[in-house]
Amino acid sequence: EQTHMGWQLDESYSRLPEFFYSTFSVNPVSEPKLVIFNKPLATELGLDPDQLTSEEGIAILAGNAMPEGRTPLAQAYAGHQFGNFTMLGDGRALLIGEQLTPAGKHVDIQLKGSGRTAYSRGGDGRAALRPMLREYLISEAMHGLGIPTTRSLAVVETGEMVRRETPLPGAIMTRIADSHIRVGTFQYAARFGKKEDLKALADYTIERHFPHIQDLEHRYLALFQEVIKRQAALIAKWQLVGFIHGVMNTDNMAVSGETIDYGPCAFMDSFDPKTVFSSIDTQGRYAYGNQPMIAGWNLARFGESLLPLLHDTPEEAVSIAQTELSKYIALFESNWLAGMRSKLGLFNTEEKDSAFVEELLNLMHKYSTDYTNTFRALTFNKLVGNELFSSNEFKAWHSSWQARLERQEETVEQSQQLMRDSNPAVIPRNHRVEEALEAAEFKGDYSALHKLLAVLANPFAHSAEQDAYTEPPEPMSGPYQTFCG
Ligand code: AMP
Ligand code: MG
Ligand code: MG
Repeated sequence: EQTHMGWQLDESYSRLPEFFYSTFSVNPVSEPKLVIFNKPLATELGLDPDQLTSEEGIAILAGNAMPEGRTPLAQAYAGHQFGNFTMLGDGRALLIGEQLTPAGKHVDIQLKGSGRTAYSRGGDGRAALRPMLREYLISEAMHGLGIPTTRSLAVVETGEMVRRETPLPGAIMTRIADSHIRVGTFQYAARFGKKEDLKALADYTIERHFPHIQDLEHRYLALFQEVIKRQAALIAKWQLVGFIHGVMNTDNMAVSGETIDYGPCAFMDSFDPKTVFSSIDTQGRYAYGNQPMIAGWNLARFGESLLPLLHDTPEEAVSIAQTELSKYIALFESNWLAGMRSKLGLFNTEEKDSAFVEELLNLMHKYSTDYTNTFRALTFNKLVGNELFSSNEFKAWHSSWQARLERQEETVEQSQQLMRDSNPAVIPRNHRVEEALEAAEFKGDYSALHKLLAVLANPFAHSAEQDAYTEPPEPMSGPYQTFCG
């Protein structure tokens, strides 16, 4: 059946107990103007790009109208923000529904910046253009890098200003996600709901994300295991590309294992585990090197929320959860080490690999070399141009690497191919991101943003046109800082 614009919307979330959401009518904006649109993604979703970018389509992307028969909803959740538990919820987002894609997937269609909801507290429910474009850009870059992430379908300017420290142009982003179920959604159920609510959420999550565990006797334990597995894999991928999320609060962790809620995130330039970009993260809680441990902390909060479903005896439940949780760090490390081996062209495993990788990272730290470009230099054997490469310590490491490569069956060509496929040429460099966002925000000029998006769509191409985007930033007078939208 061909529906208008291609919408094939389910509303499974609204079949959860009402406790989990509030429904809304639209909050219209005065003068919606589409500024960026993801045509390939629209097509992948089974949506008609032409109809969706018509006046009628833009009205939906602006939250001025809904696809026929839809009542949007705001999701309730809680979470630990910088370690403090609080009630939250979609204060500036609305879920339109779950689109059934031609490939048979169900994905959330969510508007971010769509106006006040029951969970807005003191906020205006709106978003500024620049952070929405930033999320669009970085999430698409993460997708290009092969990292599980929410996607961005469109950004619409509202024609209205939002009041921040200064008035800023407002915007609404359309976000696509496997779901928006957060660790914080489970915390909300565990803290404020009845056991039946928690069970309904767990069953819904299993049905939606982990149908293969549905019939297991201990399916809630399996749910915990699956979420641990996905986070271990996700955080390893972040670390491998130098991505710093910036606000790893439990409400910003999706149980699907997708990266979600891009706020003050950024990519590391020179290697330093202490790197923090977010202006609000004054203690460095969410620094690059802390991310694996923080994910473990968040998973502990997830496990706590699941306790009533794990065993009828509280002590037993705690012991079951602790046993599972204790596997997380090893799981993370094995994912990370596997990724590091690929970055170094290694196919087989040796006992000392972990120490061997650490040695390289320590040298990169000591000589403050660019993380991405050091691996590129190793990939293309262009070991010139910085102090690291001319140091005796590096030379010693390099010979042991060469010897290590010889102790595997694969050819030099196979190793080089593996390295090209594992070490991106381009990442969204902070200065490039800001340059593109600035032109868009202040001049309405989206050409730099489109160019950057195109280059980042295929970061392992190692093509000539990517070269201009591989330069690390000029040393700056102060540290690069990112802000929450
Ligand atoms: P975030 O930092 O975007 O993850 O948001 C944290 C919480 O604050 C969530 O519950 C958001 O819905 C809420 N929030 C953020 N900005 C606004 C806003 N402008 N108006 C209302 N709620 C907001
Ligand atoms: Mg309700
Ligand atoms: Mg959030």
